[in-house]
Amino acid sequence: MGKDLSSSLLKSIIGKKEVIGKMKINSEIHELLKRADTFILSEFHIKFHTEKKRIHLYNDSEWADYKNSNYDSNRHPPASIYDNETDQIHVCFERKYYKSNIFHEIYGHRFFFTRSDYGKLYLKIMTKIKSGLLSDSEAVKKYPKILNYGFQFKYIKNSCNGEGFAVWMEGLLCNEFKLDFLFTDKLIEYTKIRINNKYPYTYFDVYNKFIEEEKILTRLGIMKKLGFKL
Ligand SMILES: [Zn+2]
Repeated sequence: MGKDLSSSLLKSIIGKKEVIGKMKINSEIHELLKRADTFILSEFHIKFHTEKKRIHLYNDSEWADYKNSNYDSNRHPPASIYDNETDQIHVCFERKYYKSNIFHEIYGHRFFFTRSDYGKLYLKIMTKIKSGLLSDSEAVKKYPKILNYGFQFKYIKNSCNGEGFAVWMEGLLCNEFKLDFLFTDKLIEYTKIRINNKYPYTYFDVYNKFIEEEKILTRLGIMKKLGFKL
């Protein structure tokens, strides 16, 4: 468990992070984000907004450069990433489901780390680990709930619940904006990639887990459990 923490979670907050994407947010994406913010406000009563300057869009070749300059080859983000250290979103727009990816990074990951109490604590714990004030195993012992994104699920694999929340939120937004076809395509493709790479869980696994939780807890219950103040 400790090793997993340092090898994947910790790396996500250690940054070189060179910004390469040059495309500006167009009016279509701008409109989509505005509608998504409105959805979050009406559904969860949370005012949430992501400034344009935080979102970086890349064409295919820029994306390849970005990945090579910033990540180990074994940890290349497929087509988008939220960098929680710099609070920036990076998305390759030359993928058919890039809008689904934008929802995932902004309303899944960024939303959690910037607006949930557990998300903010999570980043503090990671900073302590990074600066050597806390070891991975101490963190797992001391803060199991926070490292599990507020849930008491067994510690299957770190980031499992965080990924589940991001995919769940992505699904909600795609459904709201009639983009389910993008979401489904992505879910299938990413699940295949993860199975091929023998990843311990797939997007389908974590998404289904959250769909089950939604039936029991309701949408608002999930948000409360994740440490959002509603
Ligand atoms: Zn993710």
